[in-house]
Amino acid sequence: MIDVAIPGYGRLALEHLVCDYNGTLARDGVLLDGVAAQLNALAANLTVHVVTGDTFGTALRSLQGLTCAVTLLPSEGQVQAKQAFVTKLGAAGVVAVGNGRNDRLMLEAAALGIAVIGDEGLAADAMLACDIVVRHVADAFALLEDPQRLVASLRV
Ligand SMILES: [Mg+2]
Repeated sequence: MIDVAIPGYGRLALEHLVCDYNGTLARDGVLLDGVAAQLNALAANLTVHVVTGDTFGTALRSLQGLTCAVTLLPSEGQVQAKQAFVTKLGAAGVVAVGNGRNDRLMLEAAALGIAVIGDEGLAADAMLACDIVVRHVADAFALLEDPQRLVASLRV
């Protein structure tokens, strides 16, 4: 659990991390350097989920052995499926991280939505639906490792 009170924003009591895969954790389907260690470290405080359309068919193999649950989605209806995944976990306890247009509703639904620009770009719709934009997923994970950074960015 990550529990942090943010002046003017509210209290975040986060239990689940829900991540997109391609463009967020991976480039061209290949897991980014450092992500495996960061995901395993975050798993000490959060239940980690990866929800993906798995465009390149590499997610299961890349994430094998990490402390995370992988959910593969069918190619149709991913926007709603990702949102429903967050809602089912209890959106008030979820931080969602993604970069794509199909992440927009899960970023909006989650108590905290972090959008990643990365190397594959950030869909404008996802940017408008999130709470914070970061350059790289490592920056998103650093925010969760040091929640005072969240306070600094989100407080009013
Ligand atoms: Mg993506």
